[in-house]
Amino acid sequence: MFNLKEFISYGKQSIDEEDIQTVIDTLRSPNLTQGPKVTEFEQAVANYIGVKYAVAFCNGTAALHGACYAAGIVEGDEVITSPITFAASANCVRYVGGTVVFVDIDPETYNIDPKRIQEKITVETKAIIPVDFTGQPANMDEIMEIAKEHNLVVIEDGAHSFGAEYKGQKVGTQADMTMFSFHPVKPITTAEGGVIVTNNEEYYKKLLKFRSHGIEQTSYAQEQGGWYYEMTELGYNYRMTDLQAALGLSQMTKLDQFIERRREIAKLYTETLKEIKYIITPQQLDNTVSGWHLYMIQLKGVNRKYIFEEMHAANIGVHVHYIPVYWHPYYQQLGYKKGLCPVAEDWYKNALTLPIHPQLSDEEVTFILNKLILNINEFATK
Ligand SMILES: *Cc1c(COP(=O)(O)O)cnc(C)c1O
Repeated sequence: MFNLKEFISYGKQSIDEEDIQTVIDTLRSPNLTQGPKVTEFEQAVANYIGVKYAVAFCNGTAALHGACYAAGIVEGDEVITSPITFAASANCVRYVGGTVVFVDIDPETYNIDPKRIQEKITVETKAIIPVDFTGQPANMDEIMEIAKEHNLVVIEDGAHSFGAEYKGQKVGTQADMTMFSFHPVKPITTAEGGVIVTNNEEYYKKLLKFRSHGIEQTSYAQEQGGWYYEMTELGYNYRMTDLQAALGLSQMTKLDQFIERRREIAKLYTETLKEIKYIITPQQLDNTVSGWHLYMIQLKGVNRKYIFEEMHAANIGVHVHYIPVYWHPYYQQLGYKKGLCPVAEDWYKNALTLPIHPQLSDEEVTFILNKLILNINEFATK
């Protein structure tokens, strides 16, 4: 009988000797912070996605902050996003003083429902931040159409969907700007790290300035002499290091393999779980290839807390993604009320994340499935 050697977390990085060696080599190079490796990494990301520009940041949240700045979001502007996401998708709007408007999800895809976006648009609406939740691309055709009609900027939160595809193209080619995160649980990792990809030169230039203190080489500075530079806006130090970029470059070569393995695991889960009457398995839109960052099921008629605790007792790190963002005390204090997005809230109450990452073996997946079904049956017959 197969036995677990250690706790299975819902997600984790896959680092090999090649990754380790490339970081060691960079440590011996003249550049530690932003240098040639960052530029090389940005080019590799832009080429892979099929866009003109990529700007690397110290993490995905900083990248989202940069995108909100580049989009010109300021105090009083409204920005639409999904409540079923990590808080950073909404927090970035708050960093620049904007107001977050949560739009309910589509119960089939768990992504923001384009049909409901229209009702929330006002004269103050400035942007939409769709999230490719679990790695499944948001319904970008409809979202881009709404944005065009109302002159809105679209910043796609692709933290889950690096390498995923929408209608034959990589995610990152549809929106005005798309963010990818390289946190260890994400499709590839740079420890901490993030990037914005775009085809828009104006956004590109703003992003470069924003991540480095708002400093630029102006013509005035050039006249003054080689030492001179000007800080023209209040920027930040949001730079990625060459150590992180070197790791990212090495990880990039394995991205498609990682996604392939995630897809195999998702298939194993779905094949077994679609037969279980207490479980709803995730739906996939036609013409999309999910990155399978998360594998989310919905439990129907079984107590989630019971299943969660029993699975953890068996060393299986099931999890729940995510608590609706506006339920957090910070957003409650801003006046958002529970009940705002009923589909999302109902979905959240039944949602459970099963472990998925490239290093999970078939034996481990089978072990997880057996424990899950056993616990469901035990609960059902109690
Ligand atoms: C991880 C994540 C982020 C933030 O990325 P960091 O690199 O951790 O800052 C933003 N949005 C979503 C949906 C995420 O999952």
